[in-house]
Amino acid sequence: MKDFNVTTSTIIANIIGGLIFFWVDRFIFTSPHFSPQWEIREEVKCADCGETAKGFRLVRARNYDRTRDRNPEFRCEKCSPLKLQELKERGVIVE
Ligand SMILES: [Zn+2]
Repeated sequence: MKDFNVTTSTIIANIIGGLIFFWVDRFIFTSPHFSPQWEIREEVKCADCGETAKGFRLVRARNYDRTRDRNPEFRCEKCSPLKLQELKERGVIVE
């Protein structure tokens, strides 16, 4: 009976340990401190309409990373919200 209790408490301890890791991971992943990073450049050609204007591009979001993009695409004030909408539809978390 004593052995049974030791085994049970070991299992419970493992479950609790696993849950703690699970929640810590979740907390880090969904942390509100991770806000999307944007790059704004003056006088850049818009990738959609070709207009030379102030351009925006999303560099990093929670599940999106374009920090090492060798051909960054900037979009003007008009086209940027459309692209952002497209990214959201693809599942990129930008809030
Ligand atoms: Zn544009």
